[in-house]
Amino acid sequence: MKQHLWINGKDVEAKEYRDLFSPYSKKKIKSIAQANEKDVKNAIESARHAAQTMADMPAYKRANILEKVAEFLTEEKEECAKLIATEAAKPLKAARGEVERTIMTYLFAAQEARRLTGETIPMDAAPGGENRVAYTVKEPLGVIGAITPFNFPMNLVAHKVGPAIAAGNTVVLKPASQTPLSALKIAKLFHKAGLPAGALNVVTGSGKTVGDVLLTDENIRMITFTGSPEVGISLRERAGLKRVTLELGSNSAVIVDSEVELHKIVPRIVAGAFAFQGQVCISVQRIYVHEALFTQFVELFIAETKKLVIGNPLDESTDISAMISEGDVKRAKSWIESAVKNGAQLACGGVDEAGILQPTVLLQVPNTEKLSCEEIFAPVVHINSFSHFEEAIAAVNESKYGLQAGIFTTNIERAFKGAKALHVGGVMINDFSTFRVDHMPYGGVKMSGFGREGIKYAIEEMTELKLISFKLNDPV
Ligand code: NAP
Repeated sequence: MKQHLWINGKDVEAKEYRDLFSPYSKKKIKSIAQANEKDVKNAIESARHAAQTMADMPAYKRANILEKVAEFLTEEKEECAKLIATEAAKPLKAARGEVERTIMTYLFAAQEARRLTGETIPMDAAPGGENRVAYTVKEPLGVIGAITPFNFPMNLVAHKVGPAIAAGNTVVLKPASQTPLSALKIAKLFHKAGLPAGALNVVTGSGKTVGDVLLTDENIRMITFTGSPEVGISLRERAGLKRVTLELGSNSAVIVDSEVELHKIVPRIVAGAFAFQGQVCISVQRIYVHEALFTQFVELFIAETKKLVIGNPLDESTDISAMISEGDVKRAKSWIESAVKNGAQLACGGVDEAGILQPTVLLQVPNTEKLSCEEIFAPVVHINSFSHFEEAIAAVNESKYGLQAGIFTTNIERAFKGAKALHVGGVMINDFSTFRVDHMPYGGVKMSGFGREGIKYAIEEMTELKLISFKLNDPV
């Protein structure tokens, strides 16, 4: 069956279609429209046309539309979770979690639509500013180009479409080629919720083809991108005066200080390392454990890892399934082999069975290995020991990335010290780096990107601040 483009509130046929296969079963799911340059231009034109309608729409109506999308998603929760599980091979348990979060993201967007405020400016604080009343308003930018990755095909779309619509913008969305169906599903729910035609368009197809048009078309006022650093950086370099936000990758770390109760934290760190096969931007990839607890931590960690159920993403009990592509399995295995060759110890996993890479734990990996210093984006984690807390902080910071990090400690001095010293976008004390709720400010430093998401913060990026100053008659 063919899945068309979604432009101007309608299914639009494309010239070319490409088959989409399940990463797990390798069976064909659907034929997906491949937008060409003209299709993308049409989508941008529809969005440009709808921009005034959206900018004029009162806040309560924008909020109502977002609330209705959340309501429809709630009614179709299970169907949506199965869609994510099918196209991304995300285990159903995790896919259900993603749908729940997507609902929250749209509800937060609805709330933010209602409280989009500016401020009054005390103009008379400066000589010459007397006798004026001034205030700011946040105006929508217009048409936003949104490019999203495969790993959270509903919630990361929500983190772009939610704030964009809340602020009165229109959107041309390019979802990842492996996960177009979740994005198209959302577009249809917006349509059913009463979003004007053209306010949200979905153009599926090649990242380069669609991306190049979004970058070069002058009607696109902003590019909001979530994905790999390589693509993000090239977009930024070519974006000229367009606003750009980049949510990129990481090799997130957690520190386990001495004296923490391991049985409480190990299951959580295992979940943070292996959820969705480690294909999460804030997955735990590096663990630094105080030497006093190292042996015990490793034993518990491996025992907990071995409990993970491997299999079909649509099975209720599955924790780990297929990675997004066979090429990524090969890449991860070659990084594992290199680490072992250069002195790391393989504690479990390291092999693939029926195309599924087993959850893999390595010990004492040199920081020069790709498995440590690059983003592996696979069910692979390494555990290294440290003697002094400062040493662990330095190891976490010795990375080109900086998205989130976690510190487990009972020592308040060290907690504050670590919070200050870690060069990342978010520090989780007594939690894993993988922690995120959808209204918190979220984003990275260094090669993890710039700009923040988390509805309210994304809206800052998606609006233009305008000052309005009234000069009053001189007082008599
Ligand atoms: P990706 O390969 O960079 O793809 C992301 C999106 O960019 C896809 O829609 C892709 O389309 C598109 N794209 C590819 N080439 C393009 C080009 N030349 N111009 C414009 N767009 C282009 O990333 P991914 O593999 O889907 O996702 C994994 C990465 O995303 C990881 O690095 C992960 O850490 C990062 N991520 C970051 C966050 C965060 O919030 N910081 C969250 C999730 C994921 P095609 O699919 O058609 O190639």
